[in-house]
Amino acid sequence: TEQHLSAMEAGKELNSYIVETPDLALDMADKADERIKAGNATGMTGIPIAMKDLFCTKGVHSCSASHILNGFKPEYESTVSGNLWQDGAVMLGKTNMDEFAMGSSNETSYYGPVKNPWRAEGETKDYVPGGSSGGSVAAVAGHMAIAATGTDTGGSIRQPAAFTGLVGLKPTYGRCSRWGMIAFASSLDQAGPITKTVQDAAIMMESMASYDIKDSTSVERTVPNYEHALTGDIRGMKIGIPKEYRMDGMGEEIEKLWQQGIAWMKAAGAEIVDISLPHTKYALPTYYIVAPAEASSNLARYDGVKYGLRVDGDSLDGMYKNTRAEGFGPEVQRRIMIGTYVLSAGYYDAYYLKAQKIRTLIVQDFVKAYEKVDVILTPTAPSAAFPLGEKMDDPIAMYLNDVFTVPASLAGLPAISVPAGLSKEAMPLGLQIIGQAFDEETVLRAGHVLE
Ligand code: GLN
Repeated sequence: TEQHLSAMEAGKELNSYIVETPDLALDMADKADERIKAGNATGMTGIPIAMKDLFCTKGVHSCSASHILNGFKPEYESTVSGNLWQDGAVMLGKTNMDEFAMGSSNETSYYGPVKNPWRAEGETKDYVPGGSSGGSVAAVAGHMAIAATGTDTGGSIRQPAAFTGLVGLKPTYGRCSRWGMIAFASSLDQAGPITKTVQDAAIMMESMASYDIKDSTSVERTVPNYEHALTGDIRGMKIGIPKEYRMDGMGEEIEKLWQQGIAWMKAAGAEIVDISLPHTKYALPTYYIVAPAEASSNLARYDGVKYGLRVDGDSLDGMYKNTRAEGFGPEVQRRIMIGTYVLSAGYYDAYYLKAQKIRTLIVQDFVKAYEKVDVILTPTAPSAAFPLGEKMDDPIAMYLNDVFTVPASLAGLPAISVPAGLSKEAMPLGLQIIGQAFDEETVLRAGHVLE
């Protein structure tokens, strides 16, 4: 813990932490030492980790990197962070992120952008770490935490993990409790681990997952020992390769990486099966209707009365208006406008309802594919990390980052990104393995062989 705290001092330039909690960390580390001496440690005891700012941590800044939650210190602990502390993990601080987790580059944070610890060969520019869990991945890749929590609504664990050479696991929707997670899109949000190895992801996942009566969408199922799933043996495993993921504009090096992944799996004794997920091309537009619709509803609670920021006005309505105008950044305002539009009386049927129907078709595509295969292998993102600022003026280009990650999110399926190679400029690239609902074990086993 002490070494990580000094690394955090040296690494401030990356802007990966919004708040550091050194006193708390040292105190937690002392307690972990006692526990280790007493002989009742778990895999997470004494492990210094970074906590995404989206998780409510009792008495500690929890603002989802938004100005509207300015100064908010919750009275309670989120279930996922509580599970980790119960196992003896140590909190180093709260990590930077896109505001309310809306973004793919960590550039929408009220607290400023995060820099990727990696930089392209011969380059002086800084690169984005990916988003929205950009602070979490920069902290781990920059050796300022052994692991970190992330949340994934449409790719926010997997894409930043791919951009920084890390492992990121989004579990099945319902595997982790969402209680105490600041909501973005409730039918999609899931917590998961960001780590340096698949083994670490397995250990941390076991600690984070639990059935929780306080989240009605959490599912009552025993949490397996995920580490036991890492047998190194994938002989006979059927790996699906969906032809629809071979998209126009996908970089040549991404195609090469994918072929390399296929070759590795084959060499390890897996069987490669060509499959079709015919509605893949509708996943991105569907996501960008469903997620903003839910966000506009979730974000209605920020009115200057109950939490954080209040900006006075000459009437109650004026106060609401001023608070929301000043408290939300431009990307969040864009999502609220899209969301309220697609939910409004005249447009609900044309947009929101249609999107929900397509979401069902996407789910059915996967159900059908899993009649033939055990897991699906794809690239995690269509490119490597890009320079800071490059896509900020072009929301569509930014949203395109999520093409390979949103289908699994819409279907609620577990998916992992593992580091699998480097781009021409020597930036990290990731491969994604998507599994069947609640079969994180097979996803981890396959990821372990690939890493
Ligand atoms: N980039 C996607 C978005 O902006 C996904 C974000 C996330 O998974 N939280 O909505």
